[in-house]
Amino acid sequence: MADWPLTTSTLRRRTATAVADPVLRSNVANAVDRFRVAKSAAYDRLHEPDELRRALRGVRGDVLSRWDEVLGRLADNVLALGGHVCWAPDAATANAYVADVARRTGARTAVKSKSMATEETGLNAALADVGCTVTETDLGEWIIQLADEHPSHIIIPAVHRNRHQIADTFEAEAGMAERTTEPDELTAFARGELRRRFLKADLGITGVNLGVAETGSVVLVTNEGNGRMVTTAPRVHVAVMGAERVVDTWDQADLLLGLLSKSATGQTLTSYTSITTGPRREGEADGPDEFHLVILDNGRSDLLGTEFAEMLNCIRCGACLNVCPVYRQTGGHAYGWVYSGPMGAVLTPLLAAEAPGSGHGSATARHAHEVANASTLCGACMEACPVEIPLQDLLLGLRRRKAAEAPRSERVAWSAWASAWSTPTRYRRTLAAAARGQGLAARLGWLPGVRQWTEGRALPDLPRRTFTEHWEAGDV
Ligand code: SF4
Repeated sequence: MADWPLTTSTLRRRTATAVADPVLRSNVANAVDRFRVAKSAAYDRLHEPDELRRALRGVRGDVLSRWDEVLGRLADNVLALGGHVCWAPDAATANAYVADVARRTGARTAVKSKSMATEETGLNAALADVGCTVTETDLGEWIIQLADEHPSHIIIPAVHRNRHQIADTFEAEAGMAERTTEPDELTAFARGELRRRFLKADLGITGVNLGVAETGSVVLVTNEGNGRMVTTAPRVHVAVMGAERVVDTWDQADLLLGLLSKSATGQTLTSYTSITTGPRREGEADGPDEFHLVILDNGRSDLLGTEFAEMLNCIRCGACLNVCPVYRQTGGHAYGWVYSGPMGAVLTPLLAAEAPGSGHGSATARHAHEVANASTLCGACMEACPVEIPLQDLLLGLRRRKAAEAPRSERVAWSAWASAWSTPTRYRRTLAAAARGQGLAARLGWLPGVRQWTEGRALPDLPRRTFTEHWEAGDV
């Protein structure tokens, strides 16, 4: 979470930097195009893709309508299996719990499988404070950890880097003795390094793609098998789950996992699906002695019953990022926090107050609303979303919320504009006045009263005479 706290000026600076970087733009565009095409082919192979999407939406709706009950059932079953459960209302509680587990078990090293929830809480720093070093084991996550960055895409964290840049990082930060840019050799180097850490680690930390209440299981999908290593090799396993990632039954899980993989990467199923059901039982060959499930709220339950509750349906597939014309030009770092692209533009303002170092009403929380403006509202994200989340409507809802909190001068300026354009005569007069006054605005680069709004936009070049005037004069 390198760019927190968020400010409007840092958001703008990062966007400008990203847009001015042709290598980043080409890396991002190439990768998301590949996934977009694969997704489209995978959906073409389905008999009734829209029916499946509706069914998935129904599942999410069912779970949310009984959220407390389903979460309670999951927790009860984890406890019955001999696991431990932490209900974490915020990031600080979640981090303190995991840090306590590390301290109590004497863990000096931890391996982590990709987890957005722990990115959200800033867990690695909290563990460093108690002397426990975390190694990210998803290849993309490890690359960005070495580069001291945060994920640029929710399922392809190092999407912004090409193999030459990855080779540079491995050489400079991971001691790769013989430089290579061959993907197979880079992967082999990473595998060797990570394998040593898996075997040494005291603590395994994972995210959770799904918590299945019916059996108290947590499901993790990976394409590299690292999830399997993290959940079985260390003696203690802590799974950190965003509270919305729960389903009630395996039938629901089956539907969700199928659409998750197809929407994310176009795969029929992700390469590895690891299921952990409590700690290792007697007679079992591998698995942890201790299993902990951290259920992270961090602002999620505040969304229930609001117009933004739809966001709790998100299955983190990344399909909305892959079709977003803004995301493909900037990558994820421009968005400033853990979540990027259209889903991030909605989620970041909603969770910003919960992020470490923020707070309700804080400047950071207010600034975070700015990302909702970083969208063309083209609607491609809505069309791509397997759960049919109306991202475009949610973005507009956030903009309305921000407009209601705008400075008085800005609100007066917009009211004056609305009133001026409410009759044809006033509309024509203001346009004529704007055409005469545009020289001043062009010199300033902004308009008095709506400076914040106009600063980031190119003002249109108004003709000296309107079309109506030309028409009335018989010029056209
Ligand atoms: S908003 Fe929809 S498309 Fe985007 S990550 Fe979430 S589920 Fe996937």
